[in-house]
Amino acid sequence: MPKCEWCSVEKLGDGVYALIDRDGGWFLSNTGLVDMGSYTLVIDTQYNEARARDVLQVIEDLGLPAPKLVLNTHHHGDHAWGNHVIGAPAIMHREAARMVEALRDLAPAMYEPFFPQLDFTGSKYTRPDIIVGDEGLTLQADKGSIHIRYLGPAHTPGDLVAIVDWAKAVFAGDLVFNKVTPLALDGTIQGWLRALDELEKLADGKKIVGGHGPIADKKVLSGIRGYLRHVLEGAREALEEGITDPLAIARRIGPGPLRGWKEEERLVLNVARALMGLHGRPPGEIPPDLPELARKMLEYRGQ
Ligand SMILES: [Zn+2]
Repeated sequence: MPKCEWCSVEKLGDGVYALIDRDGGWFLSNTGLVDMGSYTLVIDTQYNEARARDVLQVIEDLGLPAPKLVLNTHHHGDHAWGNHVIGAPAIMHREAARMVEALRDLAPAMYEPFFPQLDFTGSKYTRPDIIVGDEGLTLQADKGSIHIRYLGPAHTPGDLVAIVDWAKAVFAGDLVFNKVTPLALDGTIQGWLRALDELEKLADGKKIVGGHGPIADKKVLSGIRGYLRHVLEGAREALEEGITDPLAIARRIGPGPLRGWKEEERLVLNVARALMGLHGRPPGEIPPDLPELARKMLEYRGQ
């Protein structure tokens, strides 16, 4: 297998590979490669120029054809900021495209102060070329079909999953985190729970490549579901008692079923999102107090 500084390259089936980041933390995401016959499909393009170039190098080292199509599972920078380096037309869900439009002048600058350890060289949004609606899309490859499905707003307003039928593999984007705490800040916890029910059916008997963490199968879904329910119920109960501070609620409920997973402090952001949802705020809305929320998250981590 090709060498990659930050990832392990794993074969899922004939011409189907996952580049699994060894850490899986903030902005350190996974990428998928699918040999379509005459070209390679790249699923998610990494957050900076250097990592996107590493993806190109892995494609070359594997002897795959040149990349000519990108699928972004959602709009988050660690899945889309390398699109211009891959240099191929990109597919996004309509809602992800809307988020790109809203954020393209703000990102990555809005994130840089919070992640001084990361290198944002060459990180930028480019407009997607192909917009998918709720009905999804099927790509025809030499070896079989790739079904691109939208399961409703979940981790973000516009998440797509790709089912590669001949490899029995699902690229689930950030609907699935494994050993890394899920992040719901830009999405909807209720919607994510519904999407996981759908995903469980789609992923039956298949491998799941999530956005962060090692390759999994559908067994991973019950922990994520339990965590999201725990956050939602914890926020609801606290709210009924008049407690509205996400940090206080996070300290009160703890990480529940995902204790021991990395980036536990995301609980503060997830509680904040749960509270927004309980107040009827739409997925994708940026909380007005984001810097304060980020500070509270660091406080939780340091506790
Ligand atoms: Zn994401």
